[in-house]
Order: sequence, then structure tokens, then C-alpha cells
Amino acid sequence: LTDKMKNEMYELLERLFPITRSITGNGVRETFSIIQEHIPLIQHEVPSGTKAFDWIVPDEWNIRDAYIMDDDGNRVVDYQQSNLHIVSYSVPFEGTLTLDELKKHLFTLPEQPDLIPYVTSYYERRWGFCMAHNKMNELKDGNYHIKIDSSLEPGSMTYGEFVVKGKSEKEILFSTYVCHPSMANDELSGPVIATFFAKSLMDRAGSTKYTYRFLFLPETIGAITYISKNFDRLKNIVFGGYVITCIGDSGKFSYLKTRAGNTISDRVAMHVLKHITHDYNLYEFLDRGSDERQYNAPGVDLPIGSIMRSKHRTYPEYHTSADNLDFVSPMALNESLSMVERLIETFEINNIYICIKSCEPQLGKYGLYNNISKKDMIGQNRLIKDVLAYCDGQHDLLAVAEVINRPIWTVKSIIDQLLNHKLIKLAKR
Ligand code: ZN
Repeated sequence: LTDKMKNEMYELLERLFPITRSITGNGVRETFSIIQEHIPLIQHEVPSGTKAFDWIVPDEWNIRDAYIMDDDGNRVVDYQQSNLHIVSYSVPFEGTLTLDELKKHLFTLPEQPDLIPYVTSYYERRWGFCMAHNKMNELKDGNYHIKIDSSLEPGSMTYGEFVVKGKSEKEILFSTYVCHPSMANDELSGPVIATFFAKSLMDRAGSTKYTYRFLFLPETIGAITYISKNFDRLKNIVFGGYVITCIGDSGKFSYLKTRAGNTISDRVAMHVLKHITHDYNLYEFLDRGSDERQYNAPGVDLPIGSIMRSKHRTYPEYHTSADNLDFVSPMALNESLSMVERLIETFEINNIYICIKSCEPQLGKYGLYNNISKKDMIGQNRLIKDVLAYCDGQHDLLAVAEVINRPIWTVKSIIDQLLNHKLIKLAKR
């Protein structure tokens, strides 16, 4: 990973930050047109009114301007200053209200009085503004002029999809969401990591073991719609995968398990996180909150966990104006991308091997055994024998690595030596 790429990730995040995204609308399309400068993302449009299991794709929302103006003509709340000021999906409105009437439409955080909260109302038609609690308290009695220049009418919901084909049809699915306005960790860190990881995989198209699919969806309705349109295919080909969210802050890595809790995705993530950091947060499916809810629903049962740094809802900046460009860093994005690359390398090398010789081979013959009994060589000799001992046609490499308590990438380097000397072979299964 070059310094250039490191900065490019943060630069992409900075560029996407000001755009007003919601579960539908032009902000999502504009976001995709920028991501398309990096990867040839396919953009899909699903018409409003389309049924998806128990849900219906809602009308499309767009907004141009919104403000609350006092009697002196000052915009006391201004969408142009921050798109968090408007409740997402606010219906158009124009009128004059007293302060008491206006307050029924204001959302604040009394516990974090300087921050603007992020509020949505996708499925109940209303309008509202979000503002710092302290600012609201400064509002004087009197009349306020409100204008919300938005539209909420039939249109479509936009989502993005990108596939890097491998040798197998079996897929590793990465899902991230694009529906939040100006917040850096939740959500832009997810799409940014997904974009750059997809970009790095493009060079390996056709040579990886698995096919890699990247979904950029509006959260919840997008995942439900995608699953409803692709149910049979997903059930047949998804081998593993992850939701990528909240992955640009400097907190510890976190993993949220699948509902089953012991799928290949769980095994891979827990193994990698254990070996790249001894201190990570492990969450059960009971702590779910993002699109893993849909992928793991009974009957859907796809092995999709969630990879994060600070999990949604656990950090005070979550869903507020403090989840800003200072809350994420190029360094954290860089580390997260490396972690995702480790996950994929683990999937790619996780084969099953079987010994060719009966009993222990005489390793010295192959230059694999240090016959001089030096203390520092004992570990290496032992490691080769341990790897051989579990090349039984049953244990996959991840299981071997777990039994001998070494990272799978260390075990793989021994496997490569054993393969070179024709002491093991790939098991058929
Ligand atoms: Zn969120």
C-alpha cells in the first residue's frame, strides 16, 4: 500500500463528505459517479413502489435548500451550512410559525448540546430540522419563516454493484451502505474501503480462487431489495463475506459474528484479528445493527458478519456532526484496508492438504530439518512437523493454524515448502 493510495482513500472520503445522501436521490447517484472514477461500478435503479418481501421501495427524495429564518432575515438554521440540519426525507414546506410551534419540528441532543444530531423519517411523512441544543436555547420568542425546498415523489432507488471474477463461481460478498449525509466514519469509511479494496482486486481478476462482489446499498431497504431480487443466486453462490461499516476511526478493530456464529466468515475474521491484534472487540449477533440483519435473517442465512473499528452506537460521535473528517484518519483507513486484505488472503489460501508419505518423512533429506540440535532451531523443526501432522485431508489450513496457534500466513509459507518437496498435496475435497 503506497502513501499515494493512503492519501487517495482519505481524499475520496473528503470529496464524498459534503454530498447529501439518503436512501434515494441524486446524492447517491453523485456519490457513485465519483466512485466510478476508481472502479467501474454498475449503477442500478429500482422504481419507487417496487415490492421487496414485506417492504416497498419508497418515493425518491431530493432537496435543494432549507432554512429557518428569523424576523430580521437571518438564517438561524441553514441547510447550506450542514446537510445534517434537515431531517432526511423532510416533505416540502413553506410557512411562518411561532417558536413554540416550530419546536415541535426541532431535534436536538440535550446531552451533547453543541452537536447536530442525524435524524431520518423515511416511512412517515413529516418535516423537521436538527440543530445544536444550545443554539435552540438561544432562539428568541417570535415568528420564524420556514422553507424546505425538497421533493418526495415517485422516482427510483439507486444502488451500486461491482464484481471481480475469480476461478470459482463461489463468491465472497462485501456489502456497504451509501445513505448517510455528511458523516465520515458512519458511513463513508465503509464505501471508501470497499472502493479501494475492489480497485486493488481488479489487477487480480481471473486469478483469484473466489469471485468478489461489492454492493453499495442504501441501508436496510437496499439490502432487502437486493436479496429479494437475487435470492436463489445468493443462496447458491455466496461462500462468505462481510458488511463493512464504521472502519475509519482510530478505535480497536471489532467483529460482529454471523447469526450461526461458526461460519467460515466468523472463523476467518476471528483468526485474522487475533493474529494482527491481540486486543479486538468481538460482538455476538445480538449486537447487530447494520445489513448483517438482512443477510442472516432466518431462511436467508448467508454467512455475512460485520467488520468495523468502533461499532455503531458505541462511540459518542455516532450519528452526530462530530462524526466529521477529524474523526477518521488516513492511518486508520490504511490499517483497515490491510486488515481486509488479510481476510481475503485467508479465504484464498484456506485449502485442505494431505500427506503423501506414510509416517513422518525424514525431513533432513529435503533440507527441511536442522540436524544440529541448536535451541533456536527446535521451534522451526517442530513447526514443520506440526503442520505435517495435521495435513490429514480433513483439517483446512485455518483449522491447522488454529490447532498449532500460528497465523495462517506463517503456516502457508511452510505448506509451500512441503508442496515443493512433494511431501503433501491438495486434498480433493
Ligand atoms: Zn448509521
